[in-house]
Amino acid sequence: MLGIFNGNILPVEEIKISPFSRAYTFSDAVYEVVPFFKGKPIAMDLHMERLVKSCHAIGIEVEHSVVQAEIIELANLALNNSNGYVYYQLTRGVDKSRSHIYSNNLQCESFGYAAHTSQTIAPQKAKIVQDIRWARCDIKSTALLGNILLMNQAYADGCSEIIMHRNNFITESGSSNIFIVKDAKIMTPPREANILAGITRELLIKNFSKSFEIAEEPCHIDLLAEANVVFLTSSTKGIMPINEIEGNNYIFSKDHPIFMDLKNQFDKFLETAF
Ligand code: PMP
Repeated sequence: MLGIFNGNILPVEEIKISPFSRAYTFSDAVYEVVPFFKGKPIAMDLHMERLVKSCHAIGIEVEHSVVQAEIIELANLALNNSNGYVYYQLTRGVDKSRSHIYSNNLQCESFGYAAHTSQTIAPQKAKIVQDIRWARCDIKSTALLGNILLMNQAYADGCSEIIMHRNNFITESGSSNIFIVKDAKIMTPPREANILAGITRELLIKNFSKSFEIAEEPCHIDLLAEANVVFLTSSTKGIMPINEIEGNNYIFSKDHPIFMDLKNQFDKFLETAF
């Protein structure tokens, strides 16, 4: 597998990293995942904008044109015009003092790799769990222990996804945003709910709010009992339906006309808009 480390493209097996990298000791790092459709980047500008925001939020300097060029070079070399994504992380750097207070003259490290994605993803079973993460989920940090703990507990209970909530209000899923369809209305928790502002979520809201009724509003977990469809969105999975919720007998439609229409239109949009 090809990777890029501090600007050099090389097989990932040849990358050497100090154990004192703050990525390794503190998860002091942010990342992006840029999807590619038939070799073309999807919403590259929005991904770069979010990466710059994440870097600013933790005080890492980033030259976004350099990062963008590296991501495209890696995708061109590794993805062969097929569907996939580039993962790219920026780390504060190597810090032998392992001090919580970082020095401002550390040398930022970058690492990326490319991977292919499969076309179709089957509907998933989700578990409703309390959101135990920190208060800055808007930063796309590599520190994902909260998500990891919750997703693995759900996996042990036979679920592949989670629906997180704080005080009974839904936030998001483990690695995706959530939408709930009830009758003709499509609802998604607002950004103020301390979620990651997903690019797929944003593309849906910005481009489909004229043809569909899409509302960013607080979503109580009781809404799930009345939902016709629940679906997740992310750059690597696109739109992915939930068909079952652990411990509940909620019935979600597999072929709800609004959901089918939105999904078809969104898939076409991804093929043609970028
Ligand atoms: N929320 C979380 C917690 C995520 O990890 C992701 C995927 N990185 C998303 C939402 C979806 O974001 P995007 O649509 O930009 O992939």
